Amino acid sequence: MSTLLFNQIVYGPVFSRRLGNSLGINLLPQNGKVCSFDCLYCECGFNHAHTKGKLPSLQAIQNALTTGLESLHKQGVRLDVITFAGNGEPTLHPHFAQIIDDCIRMRDQWFPEAQLSVLSNATQLHRPDVVAALLKADNAILKMDSCIEATFRTLDRPTSERFTLEVLTNQLKAFPGKLIIQTLFTRGQYEGNTVDNTTDVEVNAWIRCIKEIQPHSVMVYTIDRETPAQSLEKIPLPELEDIAKRLTDATGIAVQVSG
Ligand code: SF4
Repeated sequence: MSTLLFNQIVYGPVFSRRLGNSLGINLLPQNGKVCSFDCLYCECGFNHAHTKGKLPSLQAIQNALTTGLESLHKQGVRLDVITFAGNGEPTLHPHFAQIIDDCIRMRDQWFPEAQLSVLSNATQLHRPDVVAALLKADNAILKMDSCIEATFRTLDRPTSERFTLEVLTNQLKAFPGKLIIQTLFTRGQYEGNTVDNTTDVEVNAWIRCIKEIQPHSVMVYTIDRETPAQSLEKIPLPELEDIAKRLTDATGIAVQVSG
C-alpha cells in the first residue's frame, strides 16, 4: 500500500507535472492523513491506515511558513507556485482562511512572482470562509472525477453520505470566481467492483457537467505513483488528449493534460 506522507508543513520545492516548480504546504498531520474523501488512487494511502497525528496549530504553520519562505528566498530558489496540498484536504484546517492571508502576505514579500494554488476536493464549499479564502488564491483547483453518482462514490469515496454528486456540482456551479476543475482518469478493480471513468458514458456525462459548471479551465491527469487500490491503471497520454479534445470541442473550455 502506498504511504507517501509528508512529514513537514512546508516541503519541497518539487517539480509538479501540472504546476511547475512547486513549494508544498501541508496543513494536515505530519505522517498522518485527514480527508473528507478516501480516493482509491490517493498517494497518501487510505484514510484508515493513517489516523495518527493532530492538525498542526496556526502558530506552528505561521512559523514554518516564515522560516521556509525566508530561507528559500535567501538561497535564491525560484518558485512557480506555492501549493496547498499535503496529507489530505487543506480546507479542513479550521484556520485555513487565516493561513491563506498569511501566506499571501509572505508570498508578496519574498516570492511576488509565484502563484498561490490550492488543490481541494471541494467538500467544504458550503463554508463562506473557505470560499472567500479560495477566491484569494490565484488558482482554486477543485476535484470532480465523475458525473455519475456510483462512480463518484466508488472512486472518491466521500466520508459523508450527505456529500452527493448533486451537492458537489451545485457547489461548483455556485463558486463565484475563477475555478479550475481537476479530473483524474483511471480504471481498474477494487474489492470485486470495476471502476472506470474513461468510458463513453462517463466522458459524455462529465462533459455535460463541465458545460453546466463553466469553469475557467480544466486539468485532466492520471495516476503517477503507487496507489492504495493496486489494480488501477495509468491512462495513456493519447487517450487523455482525446478526452480533452472532446471537452474542448463541446465547450470551448481550455484543458491542460498531464500524462
Ligand atoms: S481528495 Fe486528495 S487527499 Fe483526499 S483522498 Fe482524494 S486524493 Fe487523497
